[in-house]
Amino acid sequence: MDIKGKVELAIQNLVDFSQQYQPAVFSTSLSAEDMVLLDLIDLAAIDVGVFTLDTGRLPPQTYDVLSQAQKKYKRPIQVLFPDTQEVETFSIQHGVNSFYDSKERRKQCCNIRKVKPLRRALAGKKLWITGLRSAQSVATRSDLELVSWDATNEIHKLNPLLDWSTEEIFAYAKSHDVPVSDLYRQGYTSIGCAPCTRPIQDGEDERAGRWWWEDVESKECGLHVDNQGRLVRTNQETLRN
Ligand code: SF4
Repeated sequence: MDIKGKVELAIQNLVDFSQQYQPAVFSTSLSAEDMVLLDLIDLAAIDVGVFTLDTGRLPPQTYDVLSQAQKKYKRPIQVLFPDTQEVETFSIQHGVNSFYDSKERRKQCCNIRKVKPLRRALAGKKLWITGLRSAQSVATRSDLELVSWDATNEIHKLNPLLDWSTEEIFAYAKSHDVPVSDLYRQGYTSIGCAPCTRPIQDGEDERAGRWWWEDVESKECGLHVDNQGRLVRTNQETLRN
C-alpha cells in the first residue's frame, strides 16, 4: 500500500474506532510518529483528548516540539506530571540518577514518572490511541496488532500507524509541515528522557538508544506492557465489546 492509501486507512480507523469507543484519548510522546498521528487526528476532526507525560527529565528539544504543536493545532494538549512527593522520596532514597544502577531502579523511576501518570490519564477511558509501529523494534514490537485489549489498563488500544515505515513517517512530516524534534538530525531514532536516550549506531534497532545499558528485551518503559512486563499483543478477535 502506498503512503496515500496508508493515510486514508489510518484516518478511517481513527474515525471508526473513536466512534465505537468513547471516551477516547491519544497519548503523545511528541515523537515523529506521534506528531504525524496528531496531524492525522486533526485532519480526521475526531473527538479525542490528547495528553503527554512530562517526566521532568525530557530533553529541551521535546519542549520545543510541544510548543510548536500547541501553536499549530487548535486541539489542547494536556500535560501530565508525576506525583511530586514520590519523585522527591525516590531521589532522596536512591539518588537522582539511580536508574543507571539496576533494572529495578530504572523501572521504579519509569513507574513514578510515566506509568502512574499514564494510569491517571487512562482511567475511565474506552480507547487509547498510540503511535506504536512494528518497525520500531524487531525484539519488542514486531508482532503488534492494529487493535488490542490492554487488560492492565482495561482499555482498547489502537495503533493506526502500525505498518508505517520510518521513511513514510518522515516523508509525511515533511510534506505536511509537521514539527519534529531536532534530535533526529543528530542520530536519535527513538526519543525519551534525556539521561536514558542516546543516538544509535549504523545497523542498530531503532530503540537501541533507549536504556542502552540494559538487554534488548527490556527496552520498554512500562507504558505498553502487561503485569508480567510483556508488550500487549492481544489480537482483535479477543477484544471485549
Ligand atoms: S526513561 Fe529514565 S529518567 Fe525517564 S522515567 Fe524512565 S528511568 Fe526515569
